[in-house]
Amino acid sequence: MLGFAAGEPDFPTPRPIVEAAKAALDAGQTRYSPSIGDQPTREAIARKLTEENGLPGLEAANVAVSVGGKHSLYNIFQCLLDPGDEVLLPTPAWVSYAPQIGLSGGVVRELATSVESGFKVTPEQVRSAVTPKSRVLVLNSPSNPCGTMYTPDELRAIADVVAQAAGSVAPRLVVLTDEIYEKIVFGGREHLSMGSISSIAERVVTCNGLSKAFSMTGWRVGYCAASADWGRDFMKAIGRLQSQTTSNIPSFILPAIRTALTECADEVAHMCDAFEARSHLIETRLREIPGLRFPSPEGAFYVFADVSAHFGKTTPGGTRVESALTFAGALLDEAKVAVVPGEDFGGCGPSCVRLSFACSEDQINAGCDRIARFIASLG
Ligand code: PLP
Repeated sequence: MLGFAAGEPDFPTPRPIVEAAKAALDAGQTRYSPSIGDQPTREAIARKLTEENGLPGLEAANVAVSVGGKHSLYNIFQCLLDPGDEVLLPTPAWVSYAPQIGLSGGVVRELATSVESGFKVTPEQVRSAVTPKSRVLVLNSPSNPCGTMYTPDELRAIADVVAQAAGSVAPRLVVLTDEIYEKIVFGGREHLSMGSISSIAERVVTCNGLSKAFSMTGWRVGYCAASADWGRDFMKAIGRLQSQTTSNIPSFILPAIRTALTECADEVAHMCDAFEARSHLIETRLREIPGLRFPSPEGAFYVFADVSAHFGKTTPGGTRVESALTFAGALLDEAKVAVVPGEDFGGCGPSCVRLSFACSEDQINAGCDRIARFIASLG
């Protein structure tokens, strides 16, 4: 089986990070620590977000460390949403947002995107979706599953709409920006943090983590931050929730976070270069296959391809391809290639499959050979 389904980098965690955790273990850093991170780690994250991302008004108290980006997001929705609050969610979107919003009593309002729009929402879409119940606009750039990202100008235009809406129809509106793929961007594209845009900076919660950029999925490190007094109060709320649920992440990982953020830029760049080379390869190979429509990958490590041109056809094994799910199922059974069907991502997801290129170039070539043969065999 050739897997294009992984949502995690295939590289080992950089050595300095591993060594920092080992040293902390050897030094006995094995006891409880403050629930949402110790002071030096929260300070290091605040410094990173200030210097690299341009977020204003940040100190350690504006940051909370949690058990992975997913946990940070869960905490954020729990602390922001009251029952019935609306969350504007551009779709297709990563699978955990909608269930987490539901668990908080929030109501998802999907903003549908398409291959043609690069799976991105327009400012007009946001403007017309905002209501007095709008509490959160979720943005995820670069995107899982779409592999595309917003330009700085596109984000500034959306920020203008948010600022206007917050001053009129939707005074409680907050932007939740999930920037977990910020370091995996291709072609010299600029990643802009919404939290750095001064007109909305004090209504942005930035979520990030070490899983993707530092190849640390199993370590479970996520964090969130928000600027100024509002941000400090918000982190207190997250601290109250987290102190009654998970408490701190493993204490000996805290120094490793600081090492990752301050000493591993070369390793991160090296992994990004490898993802970029693979993005070119997989795009070239997939463009040769008829009936696949997708925007060029710009960041993260995914291609999200519309395969609906093949719906209605039948595989040599006798399966009628009627959906992304049946396409992916038959591809797995008959060609031994795993991709993720798009149904759970919402929006136009049911027409699409996600291919992760967090795998070797040899595997990309072998997998694309098989996908091409599979598609050619459909009748
Ligand atoms: N956000 C996005 C868009 C993701 O793709 C993921 C993981 O797949 C996460 C957040 C959560 O990452 P983790 O909980 O592994 O840090």
